[in-house]
Amino acid sequence: MEWIAGLVHAGTLLLVNALLAALASALFFALYLGHPRVKRQPGVLWWGMSYAAFATGFGLLFLPAFHVIFPGLQLIGNLSIDAGAVLALLAANLYLERSRRRLWVLVPVVMIALTEAGLVLVEGENLRHMVILGGALTALLTVATGAAFWQCKDEAQRPVARLAAIFHFLWAAMLLVRIGWWIAQPAEFAGKDPTSTFGLLSRIVLTWVITPALLWMLTRKLDAELIRHASQDPLTGVANRRVMWEEGQGRIAASHARGAPVAALMIDVDHFKSINDRWGHEGGDHVLIAIANTLSRHIREKDILARVGGEEFMVLLHDAEASAANEAAERLRQAVEKKTITLPSGETLHCTVSIGYCLSTGKEQSWRDVVVAADQALYAAKQAGRNRVVGAGD
Ligand code: GH3
Ligand code: MG
Ligand code: MG
Repeated sequence: MEWIAGLVHAGTLLLVNALLAALASALFFALYLGHPRVKRQPGVLWWGMSYAAFATGFGLLFLPAFHVIFPGLQLIGNLSIDAGAVLALLAANLYLERSRRRLWVLVPVVMIALTEAGLVLVEGENLRHMVILGGALTALLTVATGAAFWQCKDEAQRPVARLAAIFHFLWAAMLLVRIGWWIAQPAEFAGKDPTSTFGLLSRIVLTWVITPALLWMLTRKLDAELIRHASQDPLTGVANRRVMWEEGQGRIAASHARGAPVAALMIDVDHFKSINDRWGHEGGDHVLIAIANTLSRHIREKDILARVGGEEFMVLLHDAEASAANEAAERLRQAVEKKTITLPSGETLHCTVSIGYCLSTGKEQSWRDVVVAADQALYAAKQAGRNRVVGAGD
């Protein structure tokens, strides 16, 4: 321990820590305030506050270098750093959308903080007790924050979240080493604290690694949100027309190569205007959501369902034979017919759909040809009385 202390000046490390934390805090505040899409991520604001608390704490502990010393300075500085660790845990919990029940760890944390404050009142600022209690408190918070990152549910963010977690665990291990060193010292030891240099150095590394990791995670999260917006129908949550067209074109090309046909089903709700007239536009929207849910429950995982118009859906069937396409369409039609839709008002209704489908067969057939043929088959189904399935060429 002593050799590290001889290596770098502790005051310099406090200053570097304070400046790094202030920079990180300014960065998160600026991102939160200046970026409308980041504004929907309250975790970022909390990270800004967490680093502001760290900067305040390290800044206060640096004051004696300017001969500014007042009673309770050490305690307030250390409590600010503890507050920074609490805010970091809250920020991670918010950002990673974890349940509040996971914050139970704050109970022992508050108990340790109260004990620490009580001891200072009774016996004054005892470095040994402050390092042991403060270290235990920060270690608990750090392990909890690391665990939150480790359990990140989003696959796109997980690799970097795990890296952030590992650095939290290392920081916690370092705190335990520091506590161990102090416990091993004889009770009357009152010399300088050589472990603080060690602690301050690793805190610099932590801030230096965590800040870019958090920014990288945020970028992945915002990217995923953009991709979702670009490919999802906002009302029903199923894919949108753009996805259906891209997938359709891709799968037709692949099916030409393999010789296995692809089927496109065009689905239109029957007399939807009268549903809107009877239950209002909101009721109509609710019916669309219910139909989308019913359809998605009755297709296979590799098939695609999209909302391609107001009350029009499409399903793309992978590797479908003519009979399988007809069966699938019939299954979907019956599923909607049987479904009792309950409106938010509690009233119930039933509705039906007409389905036209087309199978890609000839090599010369393009995606557009398949869609036009399915659309014509749908028109025929409507003409024939609705609530039925018609195949192209039937
Ligand atoms: P059919 O298809 O059986 O011939 O009759 P329809 O009444 O369903 O015919 P049409 O396709 O002309 O009507 C579609 C209606 O869907 C018209 C439009 O007001 C309504 N609509 C379109 N988009 C939405 C939407 O997002 N929400 C709601 N509630 N209604 C929509
Ligand atoms: Mg229509
Ligand atoms: Mg319709």
